[in-house]
Amino acid sequence: MTVASRKAQVGSRRSQVVSLALVLAVFAVAHGQEPKSLGYSDTPMLPGGKWHVHDGTRPQPTVVTPGTFSTQETPGAPPSDAVVLFDGRDLSKWQNEKGQPAAWKIESGAMVVAAGAGGIQTRESFGDCQLHVEWSAPSPPKGEGQDRGNSGVFLMSRYEIQVLDSFHAQTYPDGQAAAIYGQFPPLVNAARRPGEWQTYDIVFTAPRFNGQAVAAPATVTVFHNGIVVHNHTTLIGSTVHRALGKYDVHPTKAPLMLQDHAHPVRYRNIWIRQVKSYDEP
Ligand code: MG
Repeated sequence: MTVASRKAQVGSRRSQVVSLALVLAVFAVAHGQEPKSLGYSDTPMLPGGKWHVHDGTRPQPTVVTPGTFSTQETPGAPPSDAVVLFDGRDLSKWQNEKGQPAAWKIESGAMVVAAGAGGIQTRESFGDCQLHVEWSAPSPPKGEGQDRGNSGVFLMSRYEIQVLDSFHAQTYPDGQAAAIYGQFPPLVNAARRPGEWQTYDIVFTAPRFNGQAVAAPATVTVFHNGIVVHNHTTLIGSTVHRALGKYDVHPTKAPLMLQDHAHPVRYRNIWIRQVKSYDEP
Protein backbone atom coordinates (compact mmCIF):
# COMPACT_ATOMS: atom_id res chain seq x y z
CA MET A 1 0.00 0.00 0.00
CA THR A 2 1.37 3.44 -0.81
CA VAL A 3 1.71 6.16 1.81
CA ALA A 4 -0.94 8.20 0.01
CA SER A 5 -3.48 5.37 -0.01
CA ARG A 6 -2.79 4.55 3.67
CA LYS A 7 -3.40 8.23 4.55
CA ALA A 8 -6.63 8.14 2.57
CA GLN A 9 -7.73 4.99 4.44
CA VAL A 10 -6.97 6.53 7.90
CA GLY A 11 -8.78 9.71 6.83
CA SER A 12 -11.89 7.82 5.78
CA ARG A 13 -11.92 5.87 9.07
CA ARG A 14 -11.70 9.15 10.96
CA SER A 15 -14.64 10.58 9.03
CA GLN A 16 -16.63 7.42 9.77
CA VAL A 17 -16.02 7.92 13.53
CA VAL A 18 -17.02 11.60 13.31
CA SER A 19 -20.21 10.68 11.42
CA LEU A 20 -21.09 8.06 14.03
CA ALA A 21 -20.61 10.61 16.85
CA LEU A 22 -22.84 13.07 15.00
CA VAL A 23 -25.56 10.47 14.49
CA LEU A 24 -25.44 9.60 18.22
CA ALA A 25 -25.61 13.28 19.22
CA VAL A 26 -28.61 13.88 16.93
CA PHE A 27 -30.25 10.74 18.33
CA ALA A 28 -29.67 11.97 21.92
CA VAL A 29 -31.13 15.44 21.21
CA ALA A 30 -34.09 13.90 19.36
CA HIS A 31 -34.81 11.80 22.43
CA GLY A 32 -34.67 14.78 24.80
CA GLN A 33 -31.30 14.03 26.38
CA GLU A 34 -29.22 17.08 27.17
CA PRO A 35 -25.47 17.00 26.67
CA LYS A 36 -23.96 15.25 29.69
CA SER A 37 -23.59 17.54 32.69
CA LEU A 38 -22.42 16.47 36.12
CA GLY A 39 -24.37 18.95 38.16
CA TYR A 40 -26.08 22.32 38.32
CA SER A 41 -25.17 25.96 37.87
CA ASP A 42 -28.57 27.46 38.81
CA THR A 43 -28.38 26.42 42.45
CA PRO A 44 -27.45 28.61 45.46
CA MET A 45 -23.81 29.39 46.11
CA LEU A 46 -22.17 27.50 48.98
CA PRO A 47 -20.52 29.58 51.72
CA GLY A 48 -17.20 30.86 50.41
CA GLY A 49 -18.79 31.99 47.14
CA LYS A 50 -16.80 29.59 44.97
CA TRP A 51 -19.08 26.66 44.20
CA HIS A 52 -22.76 26.17 43.58
CA VAL A 53 -24.67 23.45 45.42
CA HIS A 54 -24.09 20.31 43.27
CA ASP A 55 -21.59 22.22 41.12
CA GLY A 56 -20.55 19.89 38.32
CA THR A 57 -17.44 21.93 37.54
CA ARG A 58 -16.04 21.48 41.05
CA PRO A 59 -12.76 19.47 40.92
CA GLN A 60 -13.20 15.72 41.04
CA PRO A 61 -11.53 14.28 44.17
CA THR A 62 -8.26 12.44 43.53
CA VAL A 63 -8.77 8.70 43.18
CA VAL A 64 -7.06 6.67 45.95
CA THR A 65 -7.04 2.88 46.12
CA PRO A 66 -7.94 1.89 49.70
CA GLY A 67 -5.73 -0.43 51.70
CA THR A 68 -6.73 -3.47 53.73
CA PHE A 69 -7.16 -4.02 57.45
CA SER A 70 -4.52 -5.86 59.44
CA THR A 71 -5.05 -9.09 61.31
CA GLN A 72 -3.00 -10.20 64.30
CA GLU A 73 -0.98 -12.37 61.92
CA THR A 74 -0.65 -10.09 58.91
CA PRO A 75 -0.27 -6.33 58.53
CA GLY A 76 -2.74 -4.75 56.12
CA ALA A 77 -1.83 -2.87 52.94
CA PRO A 78 -1.64 0.94 53.06
CA PRO A 79 -3.79 3.15 50.82
CA SER A 80 -2.19 3.94 47.46
CA ASP A 81 -1.27 7.53 48.31
CA ALA A 82 0.28 6.84 51.73
CA VAL A 83 3.91 7.49 52.58
CA VAL A 84 5.01 4.14 53.97
CA LEU A 85 7.27 4.81 56.95
CA PHE A 86 7.82 1.20 57.96
CA ASP A 87 6.79 -1.93 56.07
CA GLY A 88 8.64 -4.47 58.19
CA ARG A 89 11.86 -4.43 56.24
CA ASP A 90 14.15 -1.53 57.13
CA LEU A 91 14.54 1.74 58.99
CA SER A 92 15.57 3.79 55.97
CA LYS A 93 12.83 6.37 56.61
CA TRP A 94 14.08 6.94 60.16
CA GLN A 95 17.05 8.41 62.00
CA ASN A 96 17.95 9.08 65.59
CA GLU A 97 17.58 12.49 67.17
CA LYS A 98 21.16 13.36 66.19
CA GLY A 99 20.48 12.64 62.53
CA GLN A 100 22.35 9.31 62.56
CA PRO A 101 20.91 5.98 61.32
CA ALA A 102 18.15 4.64 63.57
CA ALA A 103 19.52 1.84 65.76
CA TRP A 104 16.31 0.07 66.73
CA LYS A 105 16.17 -3.65 65.99
CA ILE A 106 14.15 -5.40 63.30
CA GLU A 107 12.68 -8.75 64.31
CA SER A 108 10.13 -10.76 62.31
CA GLY A 109 8.79 -7.77 60.39
CA ALA A 110 8.58 -5.50 63.43
CA MET A 111 10.89 -2.80 64.70
CA VAL A 112 11.69 -3.01 68.36
CA VAL A 113 12.72 -0.18 70.67
CA ALA A 114 16.40 -0.67 71.55
CA ALA A 115 16.82 0.66 75.08
CA GLY A 116 19.36 3.44 75.12
CA ALA A 117 19.34 3.96 71.34
CA GLY A 118 17.09 6.99 71.83
CA GLY A 119 13.91 8.00 70.07
CA ILE A 120 13.73 7.73 66.31
CA GLN A 121 12.25 10.28 63.98
CA THR A 122 11.25 10.32 60.35
CA ARG A 123 13.64 11.88 57.86
CA GLU A 124 10.64 13.53 56.24
CA SER A 125 8.54 16.20 57.97
CA PHE A 126 4.75 16.26 58.18
CA GLY A 127 2.02 18.69 59.20
CA ASP A 128 -1.70 17.94 58.84
CA CYS A 129 -1.90 14.19 58.48
CA GLN A 130 -3.63 10.86 58.83
CA LEU A 131 -1.31 8.43 60.59
CA HIS A 132 -1.61 4.68 61.02
CA VAL A 133 0.64 2.97 63.56
CA GLU A 134 0.57 -0.58 64.94
CA TRP A 135 2.33 -1.48 68.17
CA SER A 136 2.59 -4.30 70.62
CA ALA A 137 3.55 -4.17 74.30
CA PRO A 138 6.17 -6.60 75.65
CA SER A 139 4.88 -10.05 76.57
CA PRO A 140 5.04 -11.31 79.23
CA PRO A 141 4.39 -7.88 80.78
CA LYS A 142 6.90 -6.39 83.14
CA GLY A 143 6.65 -3.49 85.59
CA GLU A 144 3.69 -1.31 86.43
CA GLY A 145 2.30 2.18 85.94
CA GLN A 146 4.45 4.20 83.55
CA ASP A 147 7.13 1.50 83.72
CA ARG A 148 5.13 -1.03 81.69
CA GLY A 149 5.44 -1.11 77.90
CA ASN A 150 6.03 2.62 77.63
CA SER A 151 6.81 4.30 74.32
CA GLY A 152 4.99 7.04 72.45
CA VAL A 153 3.95 8.44 69.10
CA PHE A 154 5.04 12.08 68.97
CA LEU A 155 3.27 14.06 66.26
CA MET A 156 5.57 16.80 64.99
CA SER A 157 8.07 15.50 67.62
CA ARG A 158 6.05 17.39 70.26
CA TYR A 159 2.56 16.03 70.76
CA GLU A 160 2.54 12.56 72.32
CA ILE A 161 -0.12 9.93 71.92
CA GLN A 162 1.00 7.61 74.70
CA VAL A 163 1.98 4.02 74.06
CA LEU A 164 1.73 1.95 77.25
CA ASP A 165 0.55 -1.46 78.39
CA SER A 166 -2.84 -0.50 79.83
CA PHE A 167 -4.41 -3.95 79.68
CA HIS A 168 -5.57 -4.67 83.24
CA ALA A 169 -2.95 -2.16 84.35
CA GLN A 170 -3.54 1.31 85.74
CA THR A 171 -1.62 4.55 85.88
CA TYR A 172 -2.67 8.21 85.97
CA PRO A 173 -5.41 8.34 83.28
CA ASP A 174 -3.82 11.10 81.20
CA GLY A 175 -0.76 8.87 80.90
CA GLN A 176 -2.34 5.55 79.90
CA ALA A 177 -2.37 4.01 76.43
CA ALA A 178 -3.82 6.38 73.80
CA ALA A 179 -3.81 9.35 76.20
CA ILE A 180 -2.74 12.75 74.94
CA TYR A 181 0.03 12.70 77.48
CA GLY A 182 -0.55 14.95 80.45
CA GLN A 183 -3.70 16.46 78.92
CA PHE A 184 -6.53 14.05 78.10
CA PRO A 185 -7.14 10.40 78.97
CA PRO A 186 -8.65 8.32 76.19
CA LEU A 187 -12.48 8.36 76.23
CA VAL A 188 -12.34 4.61 76.90
CA ASN A 189 -9.62 2.05 77.55
CA ALA A 190 -9.52 0.02 74.31
CA ALA A 191 -6.24 -1.76 75.14
CA ARG A 192 -5.47 -5.26 73.92
CA ARG A 193 -3.41 -7.67 75.94
CA PRO A 194 0.39 -7.44 75.82
CA GLY A 195 1.91 -9.19 72.81
CA GLU A 196 -1.15 -8.49 70.65
CA TRP A 197 -1.01 -5.96 67.85
CA GLN A 198 -2.85 -2.70 68.51
CA THR A 199 -3.64 0.11 66.10
CA TYR A 200 -3.71 3.87 66.32
CA ASP A 201 -5.44 5.76 63.54
CA ILE A 202 -4.81 9.44 64.06
CA VAL A 203 -6.10 12.52 62.28
CA PHE A 204 -4.01 15.50 63.25
CA THR A 205 -4.27 19.16 62.36
CA ALA A 206 -1.09 21.07 63.06
CA PRO A 207 -1.28 24.33 65.00
CA ARG A 208 -1.06 27.59 63.08
CA PHE A 209 1.05 30.44 64.34
CA ASN A 210 0.88 34.11 63.58
CA GLY A 211 4.25 35.47 64.60
CA GLN A 212 4.60 34.43 68.24
CA ALA A 213 0.83 34.00 68.70
CA VAL A 214 -1.15 30.78 68.32
CA ALA A 215 -3.55 31.49 65.45
CA ALA A 216 -5.16 28.03 65.78
CA PRO A 217 -4.23 25.29 68.25
CA ALA A 218 -3.60 21.71 67.12
CA THR A 219 -6.48 19.25 67.07
CA VAL A 220 -6.44 15.47 67.07
CA THR A 221 -8.86 12.60 66.53
CA VAL A 222 -7.63 9.16 67.57
CA PHE A 223 -9.00 5.65 67.09
CA HIS A 224 -7.44 2.98 69.30
CA ASN A 225 -8.10 -0.47 67.88
CA GLY A 226 -10.89 1.08 65.81
CA ILE A 227 -12.56 2.81 68.79
CA VAL A 228 -12.69 6.60 68.97
CA VAL A 229 -10.74 7.79 72.02
CA HIS A 230 -10.27 11.48 71.11
CA ASN A 231 -12.86 13.32 69.06
CA HIS A 232 -11.37 16.41 67.41
CA THR A 233 -9.70 17.34 70.69
CA THR A 234 -7.89 20.67 70.99
CA LEU A 235 -4.39 20.27 72.40
CA ILE A 236 -3.32 22.52 75.28
CA GLY A 237 0.22 22.65 73.88
CA SER A 238 3.24 20.34 73.69
CA THR A 239 2.90 17.24 75.86
CA VAL A 240 5.21 17.35 78.86
CA HIS A 241 5.82 15.53 82.16
CA ARG A 242 4.59 17.08 85.43
CA ALA A 243 4.01 20.47 83.88
CA LEU A 244 1.33 22.28 81.94
CA GLY A 245 1.87 21.98 78.21
CA LYS A 246 2.19 25.14 76.16
CA TYR A 247 2.80 25.97 72.53
CA ASP A 248 6.24 26.86 71.27
CA VAL A 249 6.30 28.34 67.78
CA HIS A 250 7.49 25.71 65.29
CA PRO A 251 7.54 25.08 61.54
CA THR A 252 4.39 23.96 59.69
CA LYS A 253 5.95 20.52 59.21
CA ALA A 254 8.12 18.47 61.55
CA PRO A 255 9.26 14.83 61.85
CA LEU A 256 7.14 12.14 63.47
CA MET A 257 8.96 10.67 66.47
CA LEU A 258 8.72 7.35 68.32
CA GLN A 259 9.91 7.29 71.91
CA ASP A 260 12.57 5.13 73.51
CA HIS A 261 11.36 4.66 77.08
CA ALA A 262 13.73 1.71 77.55
CA HIS A 263 10.98 -0.89 77.03
CA PRO A 264 11.07 -3.33 74.05
CA VAL A 265 7.81 -2.13 72.47
CA ARG A 266 7.31 -3.37 68.91
CA TYR A 267 6.01 -1.41 65.92
CA ARG A 268 4.85 -2.47 62.46
CA ASN A 269 2.88 -1.15 59.46
CA ILE A 270 3.39 2.60 59.87
CA TRP A 271 2.06 4.87 57.15
CA ILE A 272 1.03 8.48 56.87
CA ARG A 273 -1.02 10.56 54.45
CA GLN A 274 -0.92 14.28 54.07
CA VAL A 275 -4.41 15.71 54.71
CA LYS A 276 -5.17 18.51 52.30
CA SER A 277 -7.99 21.01 51.95
CA TYR A 278 -11.16 20.39 49.96
CA ASP A 279 -10.73 20.76 46.19
CA GLU A 280 -6.94 20.62 46.54
CA PRO A 281 -5.42 18.13 44.07
MG1 MG B 1 5.52 7.49 76.48
